[in-house]
Amino acid sequence: QQDLEVSSAARNWRVDVQQTASPSQLVNELFASDVLTLEQLKTRLSRSAYKSLQATVERGERLDASIADTVALAMKTWAMEKGATHYTHWFQPLTGSTAEKHDSFLNPSGDGVAIMSFSGKELIQAEPDASSFPSGGLRATFEARGYTAWDPSSPAFIVRHANGATLCIPSVFASWTGEALDLKIPLLRSIEALGKAVTPAMKLFGASEGTRVTSTLGAEQEYFLITEEYFYRRPDLVMTGRTLFGTKPPRGQELEDHYFGAIPDRVLSFMTDAETQLYALGIPVKTRHNEVAPGQFEIAPIFENSNIAADHQQLIMQILRTTARKYGLVCLLHEKPFAGVNGSGKHCNWSMGTDAGENLLDPGDTPSENMQFLFFCSAVLKAVDDHQDLLRTCVASASNDHRLGANEAPPAILSIFLGSELTDIFERIVSGEGGSAKSSGLMGLGSQVLPEIPVHAGDRNRTSPFAFTGNKFEFRAVGSSQSISFPVTVMNAIFADAVAQLTADLQHRIDAGAGFDDAVAGVVRDTYRKYQRIVFNGDGYSEAWHQEAEQERGLLNLRTTIDAVETLTHEKNLRLFNDLAILNERELVARQEIMYDIYFKTVNIEGETTEYMAQTAILPAAVTYLGELEQAGPAGRAVQGLKAQVSDLTDELYDALHTLHAVNEELGGEEVHEKAHHMRDKVLPAMQQVRAAADHLEKVVSAKHWPMPTYRQMLFVK
Ligand code: ADP
Ligand code: MG
Repeated sequence: QQDLEVSSAARNWRVDVQQTASPSQLVNELFASDVLTLEQLKTRLSRSAYKSLQATVERGERLDASIADTVALAMKTWAMEKGATHYTHWFQPLTGSTAEKHDSFLNPSGDGVAIMSFSGKELIQAEPDASSFPSGGLRATFEARGYTAWDPSSPAFIVRHANGATLCIPSVFASWTGEALDLKIPLLRSIEALGKAVTPAMKLFGASEGTRVTSTLGAEQEYFLITEEYFYRRPDLVMTGRTLFGTKPPRGQELEDHYFGAIPDRVLSFMTDAETQLYALGIPVKTRHNEVAPGQFEIAPIFENSNIAADHQQLIMQILRTTARKYGLVCLLHEKPFAGVNGSGKHCNWSMGTDAGENLLDPGDTPSENMQFLFFCSAVLKAVDDHQDLLRTCVASASNDHRLGANEAPPAILSIFLGSELTDIFERIVSGEGGSAKSSGLMGLGSQVLPEIPVHAGDRNRTSPFAFTGNKFEFRAVGSSQSISFPVTVMNAIFADAVAQLTADLQHRIDAGAGFDDAVAGVVRDTYRKYQRIVFNGDGYSEAWHQEAEQERGLLNLRTTIDAVETLTHEKNLRLFNDLAILNERELVARQEIMYDIYFKTVNIEGETTEYMAQTAILPAAVTYLGELEQAGPAGRAVQGLKAQVSDLTDELYDALHTLHAVNEELGGEEVHEKAHHMRDKVLPAMQQVRAAADHLEKVVSAKHWPMPTYRQMLFVK
């Protein structure tokens, strides 16, 4: 009966949904219509103010503060034309989500008169009450001041709601002592570090003076949609974003009929609506399809420079969440909302590009392009091997722990998939196939000895955490709910580190008299030799690989968030971030503290919610059913058998709850890492025991008494 009600309610979503844009509107009017692009500003600023801003945005030159008032005025006028009444510095605190505090343009000027105003000072800097954002000890509460500052390199935009609109100004967030309290500052610093490290190498390869290099990023977002009413009837989903109970339905994803299948009408309407809003925000969404698990979907934009991509990624998550509600749906971004079916990731496709549009990880089709590609590619091998710990840590969270290493997501072990052709090329270089150094494979690179490197390598491997996919690397361990900023910061940083070392090596060989081609060949050969253990083209999910990786290759296997986060402040990592001027020691220590803290709080909330639901809903349902069986009168085998089974399981649940209650009462220590350990070692296993008994009961207790929607309903009622 309930299912019927829910599905007929679900059908009513059509009622208040507005018409979305037509194809011609899309192209002509809609795209980036809510973004204050440089082009827009050009028509609104004086020539000199525009030139100055352009230099900051396009070439990273320091902002000339004297243009702030003019820019603010132009912004305000544009925003008001778009219907905005408020503005906000839009920033990314260490919670991983975005933050905004709206201020009205309205300014009373006495005598009941008001004007709309917005000054350069207000544009450049704001001081939100920062005391409740995580700072990891960087900001004791007595000096609880932090400020946000305009990031001119990401354009301002309008966010609309039913009753108006707000001008959002992408901003960074720092303490008054200048320390980063957000995710954007280190990302911007890492982009700079990457540029600095790559430019000298590019020069050696003959790039023209002044070539700028930045990292590029395209993130594929996976998510689940469920009917809203079910969501509200699941305290676990409301409180924690994932189901803490639920048995696998009789049908999961084994039929493989969902992946790339026809998209259900309601979902497609939702997607179209979300995409229309994203287009207006200038976000180039390109791809949409069903994912592997029932109820799971994916959205992917075309790649952009990584600062913009990170801002856009946050907006994609926000729009998915808010738009789903219009269709009677809830969008779940959690990495593992349902046990037993696939979880959700956010594959980060990463590369580097020049301002002239050259992709540095594109093999190219001339010998010299090939050489440059192989040089940068070996730097990636070195970076990933040297910094396996950092790549693991930047995707570490309580929620991603349920996904990594499960049988559907990359393992916690880092390795690189190169594909057979590229691996073959490296191996030939190492073996020197083709003769002595001068006439070796590399002299003929791209011509005789080497096969042409295909732009899109034919083979694919979904089980690798870090895969070469033709002209970019795809980091697949990133979690669906997390901000991509830190993973991108880490990729930029470790690559900058590796490329600087390889460039020094190259320069050294040239200085020692080697010809350029030989010198490059030498660097590539030696780097591959040294780091080939990180290359693995096989099945990353298999048990055999876990064995081989750890025991034979000595690769790190940091299974849980706690194992990973511990490594963040190892000497090597402190030095790396400090030398590249991305995060100093205090900033890095603070981040570690916050990661422990968020882990602890997340699992703590889950532990309490598990206890609450089991105690107040599941146990009573089991007991009620048991009572009914007791009253069933003179018992035959069926009643006797059922009674015994339900009674045993109810006792099991009761005992497990007792244990969970005890560990929920404790904290495990005063220090945040002690609390985090307590959560991992005591609370999670106790939750698992409670869940095991409850899930078993779900299969036995009368459906009439079961107190919450089941997986069958949530995943299959559309
Ligand atoms: P897939 O088959 O994995 O979906 P696609 O070619 O569709 O692969 O690309 C997936 C993502 O990779 C898209 O967001 C795309 O824009 C992005 N991508 C493509 N080229 C680059 C690049 N040079 N740098 C960063 N991301 C890129
Ligand atoms: Mg992909």
